Amino acid sequence: MVLSNKTVLVTGGAGYIGSHTVLALRDQGYQVLVLDNLEYGHRDLVEEVLGVELIVGDISDYKLLCNIFQSHQVSAVVHFAAYAYVGESCSNPGKYYRNNVVGTLTLLEAMRDCNVSQIVFSSTCATYGVPTEVPITESQPQNPINPYGVTKLTVEKMLRDFDTAHGIKSVIFRYFNAAGSDPEGRLGEDHSPETHLIPLVLQTALGHRDAISIFGTDYPTPDGTCIRDYIHVTDLAEAHVLGLKYLFEDNGSDIFNLGNGSGFSVREVIETAKQITGKAIPIVEESRRAGDPPILVGASEKARRLLGWKPLYSDLNQIIEHAWNWHQKRHTKSSVETASSNTNAQ
Ligand code: UDP
Repeated sequence: MVLSNKTVLVTGGAGYIGSHTVLALRDQGYQVLVLDNLEYGHRDLVEEVLGVELIVGDISDYKLLCNIFQSHQVSAVVHFAAYAYVGESCSNPGKYYRNNVVGTLTLLEAMRDCNVSQIVFSSTCATYGVPTEVPITESQPQNPINPYGVTKLTVEKMLRDFDTAHGIKSVIFRYFNAAGSDPEGRLGEDHSPETHLIPLVLQTALGHRDAISIFGTDYPTPDGTCIRDYIHVTDLAEAHVLGLKYLFEDNGSDIFNLGNGSGFSVREVIETAKQITGKAIPIVEESRRAGDPPILVGASEKARRLLGWKPLYSDLNQIIEHAWNWHQKRHTKSSVETASSNTNAQ
């Protein structure tokens, strides 16, 4: 299939998973446009590293979306733009409903009105809530336990209804824990504020934080800390390329988990990071963080079978090694927030 005549709009393409996906799409010959309001995204990654067109704007801007769709003859949308801090979604749910749900509704209405009928959507394992079985398959019940998960589940339902009513086809990806960085070191994870475990552990190894907090040591897991399925961001990006191809080949709408199928506890992640970095990583045991299920591990056989997805970097050591390379390069001491915790490091 000739792809270079297809233009893809990537919302949130200046963010972490979005920018890695732009790189993968660009390398496959797509014309890529990024729409990002730069609230959390990075202009330099899009313009300097990726070298694709950046439109600074918001998914809630219906007129802007219609202009983009018409002037660039957009064939499909890959939709990342969303707020994604679980803790903040618990303390400020309105912010999440407005952006993630209402913003996406505007995007879907603009797509409907401008005849753009294919979308790849980044959903999350947070839509499952506390799983009834592990590993989690796509058919498990979805009972999110935090507003972030509810907003993503709501969009999944909107996508189903926009398919039925308007023929908009979607591939929905429910990611497990995105981690790592482009193996060639061009892109990486750079959130501000940073709340994710692996980057915070690495910032601690770099000496930019006093200690890493462990949120909860009394979970029903072997070492008492939460277990997560860490999936390399480059493998996630590749899945988006395959998802788009799936849509362009008229396979219809579908939903896929994206994970490695193996889980690691917070303590195991910290231990692995200690070995890779060769640095001391002091810890502080704290109480549970709101909205965290004890175990999230995904079954992704469906994506392997139907999309031909083959994760290349499923080893946690490799994931942390790539992230470590990026963090050493990107982060200077002054660019990182100081540690929020003043409690005793262990
Ligand atoms: N976590 C932690 N300390 C931190 C950040 C995260 O103990 O400073 C834990 C968090 O409670 C969860 C796991 O690490 O159990 C992964 O959290 P992260 O925020 O990276 O991803 P999430 O699972 O929320 O998508």
